[in-house]
Parts: sequence; C-alpha cells; structure tokens
Amino acid sequence: IYIFSFFSFVRSMVTAQRWKGLTIKDVPEKGRGVFTKRRFEQGEVVCEYHGRLVSREEGLAIHASSPDMNPGHLLFYKNKRNEAMCIDAHEESCQCHPLSIIYGRLINHSSKRANIRPRLFIHNDRDVILFITLRDILVNEELRYDYGIPHVPWPTL
Ligand SMILES: [Zn+2]
Repeated sequence: IYIFSFFSFVRSMVTAQRWKGLTIKDVPEKGRGVFTKRRFEQGEVVCEYHGRLVSREEGLAIHASSPDMNPGHLLFYKNKRNEAMCIDAHEESCQCHPLSIIYGRLINHSSKRANIRPRLFIHNDRDVILFITLRDILVNEELRYDYGIPHVPWPTL
C-alpha cells in the first residue's frame, strides 16, 4: 500500500505540476536556482524533470550549437533499455504544461554539494527524472544535483 501510494502521488504530481515548498530565486553568476520553502526529509521526491526526449547524440548536438545554454536544460541519462538518451528542456515550458514552471530544469549543478539525486521514472510510457533528497534539507536551501559530464556515458539511474 505504501508503494502504491508513493507512485500514485508521484504520478499525480507529474501530471498536475503542483510541487509544494519550492521557489525560484536569482543566484549570483548562475542565473536562477530552485530553493526550498519548507523542510524536506531524506528520501523525499522534491520535483521532477521532463521535456522533449532525444537521443544522446541529438542532445550533444543541441549543446554544441548553443554554447551559452544553461547546461541544466539538457539532462543525459540511460533509459530502461540501456540506450543513451537526453531530455531536452531548453524551451521555457514543455508542450504538456505550457503554463507551468518545470522546476527541475532550473536546478543548478554541484558535484560536491549536491543535496538531491536524479532517478529515472516511467510516467505514461514516458521517461521523466525524479529528484530525491540525499539528506534532510532545511528551509531556504538551494537544491543542487550532480549533472555528471555529458561526454562520458551517463550512469543508469
Ligand atoms: Zn510537461
């Protein structure tokens, strides 16, 4: 029952994009960032990342053609069939949520101070990436995850 509730919660949140307890603020030299407005416990899903699904090669080509793009607007990963893929979220809104902010694409990178980690989740036959807290998070902390390096194979999440 716990597992069922967890997945139905995540599915409804991905569909409705009503993630609670987050806000967007300017971060010096990084543009925008995502901050907490409430405490989160270790292991909670804080928000997710989705967008246009493209191959890793296509993602790298987009990255190469737009050197000024925020690297967080592309997310490289391996899907359940072990194919190297990329979620392209460089558009401000996705087609399925034209009026919503997709918090995941505004989260900044940190390899050393990451406080959330990505995890692959299949939602309506579509890959989305959930962000899960690595530890308890206080109010007004910036969320950060390790983007990894696009030029090495992305680990299977
Ligand atoms: Zn959407």
